Amino acid sequence: MEGVERNSSIFSPRPFQEWSLAFWTLCSVMVPVLITLWCSFRRSRRQELMQDILRKSKHNWQDTDLFSQPTYCCICSLHILQGAFCNCCGLCVDEECLKKADRRFLCKEIIMRGESGFRTSMVHQWIRGNVPLCSYCVVCKQQCGTQPKLCDYRCVWCQQTVHDECMQSSLKNGTCELGEFRSLIIPPYYLFNVSQMRKDKRVDYGKLAASCEKNWTPLIILANTRSGNNMGETLLGQFKMLLNPIQIFELTKTTPAKALQLCTWLPCNSARVLVCGGDGTVGWVLDAIDDMKIKGQERYIPQVAILPLGTGNDLSNTLGWGAGYAGEIPVEQILRNVMDADGIKLDRWKVQVTNKGYYNLRKLKVFTMNNYFSTGPDALMALNFHTHREKSPSLFSSRIINKAVYFFYGTKDCLVQECKDLNKKIESWMERELICPAWKAS
Ligand SMILES: [Zn+2]
Ligand SMILES: [Zn+2]
Ligand SMILES: [Zn+2]
Ligand SMILES: [Zn+2]
Repeated sequence: MEGVERNSSIFSPRPFQEWSLAFWTLCSVMVPVLITLWCSFRRSRRQELMQDILRKSKHNWQDTDLFSQPTYCCICSLHILQGAFCNCCGLCVDEECLKKADRRFLCKEIIMRGESGFRTSMVHQWIRGNVPLCSYCVVCKQQCGTQPKLCDYRCVWCQQTVHDECMQSSLKNGTCELGEFRSLIIPPYYLFNVSQMRKDKRVDYGKLAASCEKNWTPLIILANTRSGNNMGETLLGQFKMLLNPIQIFELTKTTPAKALQLCTWLPCNSARVLVCGGDGTVGWVLDAIDDMKIKGQERYIPQVAILPLGTGNDLSNTLGWGAGYAGEIPVEQILRNVMDADGIKLDRWKVQVTNKGYYNLRKLKVFTMNNYFSTGPDALMALNFHTHREKSPSLFSSRIINKAVYFFYGTKDCLVQECKDLNKKIESWMERELICPAWKAS
């Protein structure tokens, strides 16, 4: 009996040990799962709250889980890690103070409000705290924003920064000259004056330009956020901070034709357009510009610059804007490049494609060509890619994935050989002259 008792006393802790092991294993699995669930629950609550405020807000609030630099709430002045920022005026705020900040602070005023009469200037619009790193005070020329608290001011239009103690009343209410990019910015008072003139049915905006910069070339930015990688979204925010937000258009929400109508609010031949996207996007915008001619808006036609965000950027490369942009240079430098660029003329060709088969029953197809027109495997590959992207745009969020999809369609065509013997089937004519009876396709 003694032996049996001893044995049982030796073996009795084992079930307990097993239970404890199972318990801790369960804990180590469940705790991260619960934390993740709790975080996603909090995030969805936060987004719900944000959505509600977003709908009514004049700010362009963006939700963030982690600010990229030390940030202080503009209401309670506390150091914050997560919250929201407005990508037009740059206000930063935590979740709790969002509603208050939304009510208390004005965003960048796109068009100046007022009763009547023409305006030719505006005052600075200062916001306090979170000034960019490496910015210098306009009064004492010392570095700003160095103290770990909500301090110093930045004007949302001219980007000038000033210390709390250097801000004199004269500076506070002084005229804002719109800073380095004044020749690209459409000032809110200009739009106010144009709307006044439109009410009086006058459309000579040339006189209004006198109130702006001497060589004023207002810039309109058209960005395709689906092009290339996900840079488009971030760039749009950065451009909105530096220019008037009305100048920036997202092509997934507004068509180029609609966006280009802003040119008709500007003096003749003054506007420039920066297209952020690939060759396809540039072609789309150039087609919309052609339509302006048909509408009789020839004198408002803008000059076009390119920021190559797409997978195929040959046109951009040919014109000297680079083969692809992945954030190598800051947006300020992009705007400087646009300011310094010279205009050149670009040949645009009309290509007609006739199908000889089927007793010429098929309709003549007309395309516009910018710098190349391709048939055969690479055209098929680009078409397949385009169709696939139109169907599921969320898949094509990075340039590497896009290139992989291109590779997939390229390989597929090598095996399937849909374009086999195409060179024997195609004839190419230019200005009624047969160039190549058996064209080497692509
Ligand atoms: Zn706060
Ligand atoms: Zn704002
Ligand atoms: Zn200013
Ligand atoms: Zn100072």
